[in-house]
Amino acid sequence: MNVREFNKKRIYSEVSGVTAFVEPKIKIRLNDFGLYEELINAPEDFILNPLVEKVSPYLNATNNESFIAEELYSKVEDICYDKRVGYYDSLYVGHVVEGDYRKNASSGGMGTWIFKALLDEGEIDGVIHVKNNSDKNSKILYKYEISRTVEEVLEGAKTKYYPVELSEVLNIIKENKGRYAIVGIPSFIKAIRLVCLYDPIINESIAFTVGLICGHQKSSKFSEYMGWQVGIEPGNLKAIDFRHKLADRPADSYAISMTGYINGKLSTVIKAKSELDGQNWGLGYFKPLASDFTDDVFNETADIVIGDAWLPEYTSDSGGNNIVIVRDQAISRILLNSIETNKLSMKPVGVDKIFSSQSAHYRHTHDELAYRSLSQKKKNIWFPQNRVSQSNEITYLRGKVQNLRMDIAEQSHSIYQEAVKRKDLNYFSNKMNGLNFKYKLVYYVMAIKNKGFKGLLDKVFKRET
Ligand SMILES: Cc1cc2nc3c(=O)[nH]c(=O)nc-3n(C[C@H](O)[C@H](O)[C@H](O)COP(=O)(O)OP(=O)(O)OC[C@H]3O[C@@H](n4cnc5c(N)ncnc54)[C@H](O)[C@@H]3O)c2cc1C
Repeated sequence: MNVREFNKKRIYSEVSGVTAFVEPKIKIRLNDFGLYEELINAPEDFILNPLVEKVSPYLNATNNESFIAEELYSKVEDICYDKRVGYYDSLYVGHVVEGDYRKNASSGGMGTWIFKALLDEGEIDGVIHVKNNSDKNSKILYKYEISRTVEEVLEGAKTKYYPVELSEVLNIIKENKGRYAIVGIPSFIKAIRLVCLYDPIINESIAFTVGLICGHQKSSKFSEYMGWQVGIEPGNLKAIDFRHKLADRPADSYAISMTGYINGKLSTVIKAKSELDGQNWGLGYFKPLASDFTDDVFNETADIVIGDAWLPEYTSDSGGNNIVIVRDQAISRILLNSIETNKLSMKPVGVDKIFSSQSAHYRHTHDELAYRSLSQKKKNIWFPQNRVSQSNEITYLRGKVQNLRMDIAEQSHSIYQEAVKRKDLNYFSNKMNGLNFKYKLVYYVMAIKNKGFKGLLDKVFKRET
């Protein structure tokens, strides 16, 4: 593939950074929209290293998630398989009891505890996860870093709805051989698996993969926008806790804690997410296009998958709980022992329970991808080949929802850029409110269609989700 062809397709790039790892002409940089972008320092007819197409999760259509997962897990003893969730050895809902893992986490604490357990067991030498950027002069707040002790691992807790990329850490582990566990969203774990197919050193170094469920990614402007709403102007945000737990509130009614300069003074403001604009994930503010072109909801190529237990019987618990999908037997044993010794409070559940915690996510990401792909095809825009074939089989109103979601995500990037240029936060809110109004209207019509006038009242007064 030459640079011209690559550039046509890179609009979907996540960007996980693996292409830069295999092709030195590719550099990764955070662009003006707050998204990672691949920059190529070569003429348009320059032929890129063929590995670029092989390791990119969007360009490699042959080695899809099903192929990779089958290679990894189909021969594991007593492994189960579900078409929606992928392979699984065991499934749980619950949280960490040991230490302060849960208290310091976004949800049940498994996303940090599992690394501590793997370090304690001597299974790994290091952890590749997302932490505060140690370069305090950089405008980038969070990045992948390597931790080698439990203390260092603890510093990486909490979800960062923030762009990250892998090229830097991959280069570090290539130079520092060892056994590492890595955490990532589905396309990143797939990208790592693809790199492992072609790079024996990385393959030996990645001992475990910890997958997160991921509704979608956000640009760095999402954080900036949250900060701006509480008086931290663009460029002045220093830290953000996207998942600040509020005692006595349901787990999904968390707050955002933002630290930055307000009128020259370093301040921290904590605001309930319900009081901040842009926290409705259905709308997809600041979503990169790539997030809408993956069909992997349950991180099918990861050894263990961790998500939020968005289930009615768990959300009332403000402490937070995880859904957990285990595919690797060593991890399965660690979990069983830790449940027995009360380090974990985990209840085995059926596959439908796991699925139901992400059913809305699955409808958008997997089922309705068929419609999004067809829309791109009709517009003559290249789109990644995935496991969902293009189709127009969608109700008129769900089609409208999809059109509006794509519109809102796309426009949020440029409208925000213009608002920053004008130094006018209201410019963004007003423009976005116009689109949001149309979106709400479609939902009202759907509510009336499904449940009549009662449905409309429920929607307006938020008597149901
Ligand atoms: C962009 C994004 C979208 C998500 N969307 C959903 C969703 O729709 N539904 C759902 O159930 N769960 C989603 N999650 C996962 C969820 O937010 C929690 O991270 C997960 O439940 C683990 O919680 P915990 O308390 O066990 O983890 P913690 O103990 O808080 O640990 C979190 C772990 O995730 C790592 N991490 C943080 N940010 C990133 C990142 N950007 N990329 C890679 N690793 C990271 C940390 O380094 C740490 O290891 C999303 C996560 C991200 C990053």
